[in-house]
Amino acid sequence: MKTIVEIITENKRTNMDIIDAAGKIIREGGLAAFPTETVYGLGADALNPEASRKIYEAKGRPSDNPLIIHIADMEALEKIVLHVPTKAEKLAEHFWPGPLTMIFAKSGRVPLETTGGLQTVAVRMPNHPVALALIRAAGGYIAAPSANTSGRPSPTLAEHVAEDMDGRIPLILDGGAVGIGIESTIVDLSGGIPMVLRPGAITIDMLRDVIGEVRIDPGIEVNPSAHPRAPGMKYKHYAPRAELILVNGAREKVLEKINDLAHQAAESGKTAGVIGTDESCGHYRYGIVKSIGTRSDADTIAQHLYKILREFDQQDVDVIYSESFSAPGIGQAIMNRLLKAAGQKMIEV
Ligand code: AMP
Ligand code: MG
Repeated sequence: MKTIVEIITENKRTNMDIIDAAGKIIREGGLAAFPTETVYGLGADALNPEASRKIYEAKGRPSDNPLIIHIADMEALEKIVLHVPTKAEKLAEHFWPGPLTMIFAKSGRVPLETTGGLQTVAVRMPNHPVALALIRAAGGYIAAPSANTSGRPSPTLAEHVAEDMDGRIPLILDGGAVGIGIESTIVDLSGGIPMVLRPGAITIDMLRDVIGEVRIDPGIEVNPSAHPRAPGMKYKHYAPRAELILVNGAREKVLEKINDLAHQAAESGKTAGVIGTDESCGHYRYGIVKSIGTRSDADTIAQHLYKILREFDQQDVDVIYSESFSAPGIGQAIMNRLLKAAGQKMIEV
């Protein structure tokens, strides 16, 4: 299959002819990749079981890992869920369109192929003009996981999508770099006390401010034996090909440790990658050193996380040493993804 990449935004305007063509592909059961504010998505008609199956095939995604359904308005929500709890209405008012996915009991219209066999469904209204236009053009319901091969870092540029999906899907809409760079927060509202299943740009404190008590799935905390409730969170995920090791502790000690480790790697004939920040990169003396962003703005770290992991893949490094980035706000989501990418390997200094 030949994959076409189309520039979808020029001078901040969305090309509606291309949106219509992409919408037609999806309505007819095909796949198209598109930008959202979190990461690039691989879209199919969420209400068509055959179309959902194609997503799993193109990504090599395990079939028990459910897809998020993307909608463009609140009316669309009512048709795919059994019931919209008041707390969900409140969260939607505050955070939709935006990087928040909510889980509901599903209605009969949603095929089990889309939900990985579950009776619940994950729904999000993305905050991106291209995504919203495409959802409308495609009939209102787009199932879309991140547009990467299963297990690889999520795509934050159309070029990343092409790396993984070239020859597998007919169309990639290129809307440039995404804004946030890590996947949505997932909160389960299908019963009991709301529970965060995956941290993201909407933090647990932001959710608590709106709906009161919210729990965090113990399965996503740093604990290799935990069993997360979001099926996708149990897979080794977001990972670069090289071994990734995080180093955590006081700034000076971290710099020293990473310099030591990268030096040792060089001595034994290995190529090391080093992930630092604008503030620290000048202090590293060995390996290929990259800045992930600035500590004065954690959003920049989220934006560049997956891009940097992909760059190190392309440069064929053997091992990557990274600083850790626990920070308030989006810091929890950054660390969640980095620890998963590292298979939980973190050295304390
Ligand atoms: P992705 O779209 O690639 O960011 O992955 C979607 C994530 O949402 C995966 O971790 C899924 O396991 C999770 N998810 C989707 N639907 C559900 C659901 N009904 N219940 C729990 N987790 C879900
Ligand atoms: Mg994904």
